[in-house]
Amino acid sequence: MAAVTLTSQLLIRRHVETTAQNELVSSVAVYSKIWEQRARALSAHASVLGHDFGSRSAIASGDAETIRSALDNLAGRVNMPQAYFVSTEGHVLGNSRQQIDPRLAKMVVWAAEQQSEQIDQFEQIDVIGGRPFRLIASPVMAPVLLGYIVFAVPIDAAELDQIRRLAPIALQATLLHRAPDGRWTADRGPESDEQLARLVALSGAARDRVRTVTGPDGPELAIVEPLNGNLREAKAALLLTYPWSAALVGYRELQLGVTLSSIFALLLALLGGVRLSSAITQPIVELERAAHNLESGMASSIEVTAPDEIGRLAESLNRIGRLAFHDNLTGLANRTFVNEQLQAALEASIRLETQTAMLCLDLDRFKLVNDKLGHQVGDALLKRVGKILRDSVSDGTVARLGGDEFAIVLPNCTPERARLLGQALIDTLAVPMKINDYQVATGTSVGVAFGPKDAHDAAALMRAADLALYSAKRSGRGVVRFFEPGLDSVAQQRHQIETELRDALQSGQFLLAFQPVLNIEKGEVRTQEALLRWQHPTKGNIAPDEFIPIAESNGLIVAMGEWVLREACREAAAWPGNFGVAVNVSPLQFRNSGFLNAIFQALSQSGLSPDRLEIELTESIFLDGEAAILAQLHRLREAGVRIALDDFGTGYSSLSYLRSFPFDRVKIDKVFIHSLQDDESTRAVVRSIIDLAHALHMDVTAEGVETAEQLDLLKSFGCDNIQGFLIGIPQSVGNTSVVANAEFTPLQVGSVVAGTPTLLTQPPRLADRQGLGSRTASKL
Ligand code: C2E
Ligand code: CA
Ligand code: CA
Repeated sequence: MAAVTLTSQLLIRRHVETTAQNELVSSVAVYSKIWEQRARALSAHASVLGHDFGSRSAIASGDAETIRSALDNLAGRVNMPQAYFVSTEGHVLGNSRQQIDPRLAKMVVWAAEQQSEQIDQFEQIDVIGGRPFRLIASPVMAPVLLGYIVFAVPIDAAELDQIRRLAPIALQATLLHRAPDGRWTADRGPESDEQLARLVALSGAARDRVRTVTGPDGPELAIVEPLNGNLREAKAALLLTYPWSAALVGYRELQLGVTLSSIFALLLALLGGVRLSSAITQPIVELERAAHNLESGMASSIEVTAPDEIGRLAESLNRIGRLAFHDNLTGLANRTFVNEQLQAALEASIRLETQTAMLCLDLDRFKLVNDKLGHQVGDALLKRVGKILRDSVSDGTVARLGGDEFAIVLPNCTPERARLLGQALIDTLAVPMKINDYQVATGTSVGVAFGPKDAHDAAALMRAADLALYSAKRSGRGVVRFFEPGLDSVAQQRHQIETELRDALQSGQFLLAFQPVLNIEKGEVRTQEALLRWQHPTKGNIAPDEFIPIAESNGLIVAMGEWVLREACREAAAWPGNFGVAVNVSPLQFRNSGFLNAIFQALSQSGLSPDRLEIELTESIFLDGEAAILAQLHRLREAGVRIALDDFGTGYSSLSYLRSFPFDRVKIDKVFIHSLQDDESTRAVVRSIIDLAHALHMDVTAEGVETAEQLDLLKSFGCDNIQGFLIGIPQSVGNTSVVANAEFTPLQVGSVVAGTPTLLTQPPRLADRQGLGSRTASKL
């Protein structure tokens, strides 16, 4: 733009200069022409006078009066105030209108003298008393030369004005004259001698004679025309000048226009540049921000505006973002993303003084579905559940945290709403779903925590909801549980148990207690169940329900289980006769390849006959795939070890497992026994379990028998054995050894009177302790 502006300004100047130069040159030419014509006209007038008879005779006779009147006449006619007659002798006569200046007279005489007979006109310019004059001489012949007519034309303001008027541009005309010492001076401003001299000396092509000089009002274009008349060397010269400022006046608007349009174009270019660069850089800045967010684990997406490289880059970044923040299978948010959402919602809740609800859910029996029906069905189930959750939440975030765990974040939520939503989800998921031709029954439990009420940051709130879920599952599944501060301490306790458990085995804090199993028909105890006890040095006795799941979760159950086996076999080996021992075995132990060896080792080390050992398993053993498990069970049975199905009725698909393996014994879970008296349907279930077991040639034990009424009912159903406080509570080794050492008869059962175990021939004092009357005892 600067170059364009400069170039156009230069072009304008150039044009102005050329125009001015042309004007100056042509003005000079025109003036010269006029000058010449005037000189010719004057000499023509002079020659008329010279040829006039009257005048000639007056000149010849020296009639001064007549000559003067003739000169007057001439001067009047040509409008030339100063006309002279110079006689050949050098006498000067002027017209009457003026006094003859002696210096002028001298000049006039001189000019006349210069006039030769060969030319009819002489012209020359001289300066007299500082005033320039043009002297034009013309001879008067009658027929011999009598003298000369000389016009002295002052070159004054009027004369110069005429030139100015002739030119179409605002020229200034100035006369230069040369002093006797040769210096040129101007009538106006302070031009230096050399400047003027140089100008005067300029010749060549007409335009080249125009130069820029410094005038009184700044730079101007100037041309000089020497006025030398017939003389070789000029004494005066005409200086024509044209100030640049005046030359440019007509172009000011154009210049301004060019400058303004340049500035405008520049601004436009700048604006365009800024917009263009921001159009390029803005998406890059956005890309950078999104990449940065991704890096720091924050979700963000970029709007893809154009299908160019940046657009494609944005698209791939969005794709990466989706992968990073969403679960591939369900399309729900993943843990990272929900964590971020939760944190944001929580911060808003703290600011707005509302509550954000965090719901945690996991599916019941999901592992079973996966194992039994395959991963495809498992995946389809997760997708279906994901859709159900998404459809039921309109203003929150639904996420899959991993496996069968889901979470819902509800900003600004009341406890009532969270409870209703949780219950609605439980109800929906309790209905079996048809997936890939299978009827899949699942279910869920819901844990809820509120922030900032229960926790101030996302991680803590998630943990609180998780604790609530854990508590929901512990309290029997299919319920909504809200977080309570106590849950936290339960979790902490669990954590502590986990660390102390490792120590407990080494430092001998474990003990075995034995609980008798009574054969109803024979009225004798033939077997005792070994139950693990942890005698914690500070916390006292810790129940197996509390520490066994922990030992299962950290793998310690394998070592613990081996210890139980060894210990139980060692103890039982000391018991009289073929008194058996039942040992509980966790599915995790079974999964361990060395488990069968551990059993055989325990048997051989203790010398216990394998048929005196009974292994108690729960249905969950089959969740890991039946084939391998069944093979191991068969090997055990072949070796003579008896196998019992424990806690029957609480597990997964119940009766079908009964057919999958020829168990020696089925143990009906105590929950059935406890509701025997109050619930007709339970009675029906228990009775059919017993019938089915018998049909399959299995022996049945009812667990948790506490009352004589329960015993009566079980007896009437044909139940084979009972176990429970009615018969005896689990007793430590020492007490059992009393039983073992005693003479054991079919009617004797182990007493559980605390501290002083005795053998009872008559219905147990245990019954008294359990609040049972002698009636019960006598029935035994
Ligand atoms: P389980 O195998 O069903 O054991 C019977 C549980 O019922 C025992 O609880 C016992 O004390 C309790 N019980 C017995 N009679 C009655 C009664 O009349 N009423 C009531 N309410 N309860 C009665 P315990 O000893 O607390 O053991 C709990 C569970 O821990 C056991 O249930 C078993 O699953 C597990 N367990 C115990 N010892 C071991 C072990 O050495 N290894 C493994 N893997 N699990 C064990
Ligand atoms: Ca058991
Ligand atoms: Ca049991």
